[in-house]
Amino acid sequence: MIIQISNLSDGDYHYTFDKEVKEIGLSEPFFGNVFVESQLQKSRRQIILNSKLIVNVNFECDRCDVEYEQELTNEFKIVYLFSSEINDEDKIDLKYIPFETDTINITPDIRDYALLAIPMKKLCKEDCKGLCIRCGKNLNEESCSCKTDEIDSRWLPLEKLRNKVN
Ligand SMILES: [Zn+2]
Ligand SMILES: [Zn+2]
Repeated sequence: MIIQISNLSDGDYHYTFDKEVKEIGLSEPFFGNVFVESQLQKSRRQIILNSKLIVNVNFECDRCDVEYEQELTNEFKIVYLFSSEINDEDKIDLKYIPFETDTINITPDIRDYALLAIPMKKLCKEDCKGLCIRCGKNLNEESCSCKTDEIDSRWLPLEKLRNKVN
């Protein structure tokens, strides 16, 4: 995902990329292709690049363990400042580049932002009912006859303690 910037006159440009995830160094849970759309604004002193990525992932639900596919998207903006004094402490959204730079490569940024798009909690659906803690049935697919008023065994020690106190 390389953008040629030498001989690019000031103005607005639009780019799209479509690459296999493994070509940009992404593996599980990513699969298929990553699609990127970038808007580039070039002026004499800087380049502003707004990018949006779309990528597919294969997750296992945290509640019911079922595998499901999800489309992740992320958007980010990077400002490239033309500078003769190169500050090598690049920030995530600000990079210094020499005036004579020929190309900018956004592959590492796409990889980073794809990884940042992975949610902390992975749920096959918002209201996933999960698995029965007694019989292990997937409660999204069927209900079970386990008594729901039984105490989760993990809380039994606590329950014993409560009985003692009372
Ligand atoms: Zn689930
Ligand atoms: Zn059950």
